[in-house]
Amino acid sequence: MKNLLILGAGTSGTMMANHLVSKLPKSEWQITIVDQYKTHYYQPGFLFLPFDIYTTKQVKKNGKKFIPKNVNYVQDEIELIRPEANEVDLKDGQVLPYDILIIATGCKIAPDEVEGMDGPNWRKNIFDFYTYEGAKALRDKLREWEGGKLVVHITEMPIKCPVAPLEFAFLADSYFKNKGMRDKVDITFVTPLDGAFTKPTATKTLHYLLEEKNIKEVTNFNIERVDYENNKIIDYADEEVPYDLLVTTPTNMGDPLIERSGLGDDMNYIPTHKASLQTKEHENIFAIGDATNIPASKAGSVAHFEADILTENILLYINGEPLKEEFDGHANCFIETGNGKALLIDFNYTHEPVEGKFPFPSVGPLKLLKESRANHMGKMAFRWIYWNMLLKGTPIPFVSSTMNEKGKKFEEVS
Ligand SMILES: Cc1cc2nc3c(=O)[nH]c(=O)nc-3n(C[C@H](O)[C@H](O)[C@H](O)COP(=O)(O)OP(=O)(O)OC[C@H]3O[C@@H](n4cnc5c(N)ncnc54)[C@H](O)[C@@H]3O)c2cc1C
Repeated sequence: MKNLLILGAGTSGTMMANHLVSKLPKSEWQITIVDQYKTHYYQPGFLFLPFDIYTTKQVKKNGKKFIPKNVNYVQDEIELIRPEANEVDLKDGQVLPYDILIIATGCKIAPDEVEGMDGPNWRKNIFDFYTYEGAKALRDKLREWEGGKLVVHITEMPIKCPVAPLEFAFLADSYFKNKGMRDKVDITFVTPLDGAFTKPTATKTLHYLLEEKNIKEVTNFNIERVDYENNKIIDYADEEVPYDLLVTTPTNMGDPLIERSGLGDDMNYIPTHKASLQTKEHENIFAIGDATNIPASKAGSVAHFEADILTENILLYINGEPLKEEFDGHANCFIETGNGKALLIDFNYTHEPVEGKFPFPSVGPLKLLKESRANHMGKMAFRWIYWNMLLKGTPIPFVSSTMNEKGKKFEEVS
């Protein structure tokens, strides 16, 4: 028997187990997947938890439920990857050999990267919503908060779902309006970027929405430290932004396991070929999702598109054939804008998000880069799609792994 080992049973690892179990002959291949936690979290739901839009039950399920029966599921912390021996060590002392390794260990927040961030006021008046614990603690805080200066902040890029902090600011605007206390809350969005988003056309639209909702914008803010005693964040140019409640997105980093194993860059992301998803150092090691250093968005939708292409490449690799260089960085994200509306963006490595229609070029029905109720319904439907289709590797109708250029209004290049 040969061994295909998947590290991490989050979005990407679970999808890969489901894809591969039906494609690899059972008599030849044993598939094993390892994760440290029993619980699988629906991370996009962490955006809604603080505003009491989702309950805790809606964002977590038993992870084993999504792992196919013929896959060996191991619950333990992964200690070390030893590529020279084709082996992985687990915390309980088990050693797992592999012929092919898929690393899907994602990334997570590292608030200790900024002085003062996770000091004595962490989860008192400094919160994140990128973890289950953080989102839940913030929900409790918002329920009793009486208003003041709310600062929504991004530490540095890349982060998972790069639009989530912006969505948080939009949702905060409608949350406080609905509570009849918007006049008591001053919202500021602070970013290290020179605008609201990483791509110019979407940045313009999003900037307009921030203005419309009376959310102040502080750009090019490269945080140096949090002065938790005086409630202000300070950047390297000595600019200061005061807060009463700081909702920050700390630095995102790959798991320390990647550093321990000597497989990562300085942020613990794994150098990976951006079109084939084979790692750069080892031809029998592949990486997918947030764990890679590829220049695509760190998003569940991206992992879903990657999984289709990686599955094909694993089969080609097993047959000794050349890998397909097909992943184009396709990302498809709903941006919740509050008051029951959302935008939709669809882009890839070479094309930024523009206006147009999706998924059908002429009829839509979803509009790209325009606020609509239909897009909001799409965002809400994504939770059902995630639990019932995405994790199981079921294709999402009419949405292709590579981006469809039709129906999009790209600027003419003269
Ligand atoms: C607030 C928020 C909002 C988001 N919104 C959206 C959205 O609207 N749309 C969208 O597409 N995406 C969204 N995302 C991003 C999406 O959730 C992630 O991109 C996706 O989950 C990445 O999948 P992954 O498998 O790479 O990593 P993960 O799903 O994080 O899985 C990694 C797994 O590896 C395990 N692991 C790591 N290290 C070890 C170790 N040493 N030992 C054992 N196990 C280990 C972890 O326990 C985890 O289960 C959002 C994320 C957040 C935080």
